[in-house]
Amino acid sequence: MGEAQNALFPNYGRYPLTFVKGEGSRLWDENGKEYLDLMCGLAVTNLGHAPKQVTERLKQQVDTLWHTSNLFHIPNQDQLAQLLVDNSCADAVFFCNSGAEANEAAIKIARRYFQKVVGQPERYEIITYHMSFHGRTLATLTATGQDKVKEGFSPLPEGFIYAPYNDAEATEKLISEKTCAIMLEMVQGEGGVNPADQAFVKRVAELCQQHGLLLIVDEIQTGMGRTGKMFAYEHYGIEPDVFTLAKGLGSGMPIGAMLGKEKLRQAFSAGSHGSTFGGNYLSTAAGIATVETLLEEKLPERAAELGEYIVSELKAKLAGNPLVEQIRGLGLLIGIGLNQPSADLISTIHEQGVLVVSAGPNVIRLAPSLLISKEELDRGLETVCTVLAQKAAATV
Ligand SMILES: *Cc1c(COP(=O)(O)O)cnc(C)c1O
Repeated sequence: MGEAQNALFPNYGRYPLTFVKGEGSRLWDENGKEYLDLMCGLAVTNLGHAPKQVTERLKQQVDTLWHTSNLFHIPNQDQLAQLLVDNSCADAVFFCNSGAEANEAAIKIARRYFQKVVGQPERYEIITYHMSFHGRTLATLTATGQDKVKEGFSPLPEGFIYAPYNDAEATEKLISEKTCAIMLEMVQGEGGVNPADQAFVKRVAELCQQHGLLLIVDEIQTGMGRTGKMFAYEHYGIEPDVFTLAKGLGSGMPIGAMLGKEKLRQAFSAGSHGSTFGGNYLSTAAGIATVETLLEEKLPERAAELGEYIVSELKAKLAGNPLVEQIRGLGLLIGIGLNQPSADLISTIHEQGVLVVSAGPNVIRLAPSLLISKEELDRGLETVCTVLAQKAAATV
């Protein structure tokens, strides 16, 4: 469907493309044209489109049982939670359906921990960061450090204050007797693919320890092997009290998760929080198959290797291109920072049959599948670099 008015709210600015089939890192549009996917539906289809390892498990589940509600035990949920706990610093998991809901759960458990477990109801404020992105619910858009997601939605819930990213000193100055948590991304995805500095993250973790604050890491975009570790916090030698997952967790099936340390368990006592669909048989079947595949095929390691390769290729191929300011990222979450808006260039790259996406106005974001072949990757990078070279030539 094109630009014409249809029965949907116009809340998305969509590219003029419609896909009808996907396989691995390839997508086909309604005219049969093939595209190479270097964005994975915004860092979601980390195993590629319709990955066999997941579709088989999902098909089996579709024929067996879909939904019973969280009034009953759901073995898939137990199994996925155990897998996540066994492979992270967390001790307990809550499942929901999206990233925003996972962060909503993180915000709620932080407040409830201080109100019901610690007995300090005056501590409810959460420090978040400029240019962060945490979701679109009222609480998570308030947590988000970008005004554009807040316009027209006031009044916003109270209890959030914002520090400049990668500035531990400024963070420390904002801590007060009201602070209950610090929440951040290890790489700001929507904010422009900005990785956190090692020293900054270490200091923030220290500040949380010193002041008895919860450290909440939003791993919704960075998790599930994307950055070259299963979870991006592992790059920093820290352990969050809470972290959140969604995008890559179900390979495209809607699922989110909030994971926390043992001391938080009682904060989410029976009846305190919930979700009708959260962790149902289908989404958790996809989650189990996804995590097992990531582990068995050592895909976080592969993401680390491919990520280094991409950055070195881009640096070589784009050296001297006057449009390019910086190439940055972690693993397979990579940003090409430009000195001008990226939108037109992204459209041209799409026309050339390669899918990339922006991350803020001046950045081209690459987030290919962890299973993309070297040949596909080379072809995609060649297209991206050629388009940038042609634009540079036309600008001079
Ligand atoms: C995408 C994203 C979210 C929101 O996830 P939804 O599933 O769209 O609600 C939150 N935080 C980060 C870091 C994200 O990248």
